[in-house]
Amino acid sequence: MSIPLSDRINKLSTSATLAMAAKARELRNEGKDIIGLSLGEPDFNIPDFIKESAKKAIDDNYSSYSPVDGYADLKQAISNKFKRDNNLDYALNQIVVSTGAKQSLANIAMVMLNKGDEVILPAPYWVSYSDIVKLAEGTPVEVPTSIETDFKMTPAQLESAITPKTKMLWFSSPCNPSGSVYSEEELAGLAAILRKYPNIFVVSDEIYEHINFRSKHASIATIEGMYDRTITVNGVSKAFAMTGWRIGYIGAADWIAKACTKFQGQITSGANAIGQRATITALEAPVSKIQYMIDKFRERRDLILELLGTIDGFQLNVPEGAFYVFPDISSFFGRELNGTTIQNSSDFAMYLLEHANVATVPGAAFGNPNCIRISYAASESEIKEAVTRIKAVL
Ligand code: PMP
Ligand code: GLU
Repeated sequence: MSIPLSDRINKLSTSATLAMAAKARELRNEGKDIIGLSLGEPDFNIPDFIKESAKKAIDDNYSSYSPVDGYADLKQAISNKFKRDNNLDYALNQIVVSTGAKQSLANIAMVMLNKGDEVILPAPYWVSYSDIVKLAEGTPVEVPTSIETDFKMTPAQLESAITPKTKMLWFSSPCNPSGSVYSEEELAGLAAILRKYPNIFVVSDEIYEHINFRSKHASIATIEGMYDRTITVNGVSKAFAMTGWRIGYIGAADWIAKACTKFQGQITSGANAIGQRATITALEAPVSKIQYMIDKFRERRDLILELLGTIDGFQLNVPEGAFYVFPDISSFFGRELNGTTIQNSSDFAMYLLEHANVATVPGAAFGNPNCIRISYAASESEIKEAVTRIKAVL
């Protein structure tokens, strides 16, 4: 009997990042000594001052359904944060709190896209963008970039991808998986093109905002003509190491926020109450409280770049934010290593998993089949051991 699942789920890919993490976990359970550099998750604990506020929220009985779009005082803290860090004015009716930035993105796709609407995704893009867009019956339009342009899309590339069906542009800066950061000037270049096409909306995923080693973070919504049609996405998973507490949020035009709230009200209701209370504490704290994590990520970036730089055949850019390196490993394609012929990025990542016991993610999942993604949100000793093993098997 064929399994009677919907076409929708049959067409959906499994998240490659989560799949690789599950595979690593499975091998570990079998007794293998796997170093997991696949999942984009800080290896720090949640800072104590945030944990304390969650404990207090439990004692204060924050146990009932929260408002669908988030507690008003959390939305006020988000509004203050947007002003403080991004110079953006979002009133409370322009903010929606969700179960992670992943849900924020899914809400946006479901409320903005009709069948066949095109969404421009500069590639490499975060793994879930393409499937979230497809789930909403939109059509992803990938714009390939390469290591030569630091994996950033140029204004000319953007313009040539625009068609009468283009509805949105989705991108992240700092970027997962490339670590690239768009400067204000670079965003202004993209905005100059978008001003010619007033019907195109922008999703600016700024979840790695604070993990930026380059310069002050720039938000595209601050650039002339962009505010009304940008949906600024953010969350606490990365900067505050709060991945499991599942809180993300958007700032957007009030009618978009209202639609996201309506949608969310039918599928999940308000996000986790304790996580929301803790997020108030996280966002009200000065950024200096989390600087130690950012400093560590920077040290680890320098370390992994130095170590990977000693492996022949790895071509590297210098990621300026997030916690990933995205080496081009296409020079290995067609080569035979220990009896395995490497044809593509998946073969390469599987080879590293099986022979070096190091979990990474194939670049194809992010729309770039020449690369692999390595997360350096791991301890220095794990990073050193992982690269030693990779070097040995190559
Ligand atoms: N956007 C990007 C670019 C990410 O890397 C992640 C990490 N999973 C998310 C969104 C979703 O984050 P979360 O759902 O944990 O808030
Ligand atoms: N954003 C992380 C990653 O890219 C977490 C995993 C996920 O949500 O897919 O690895």
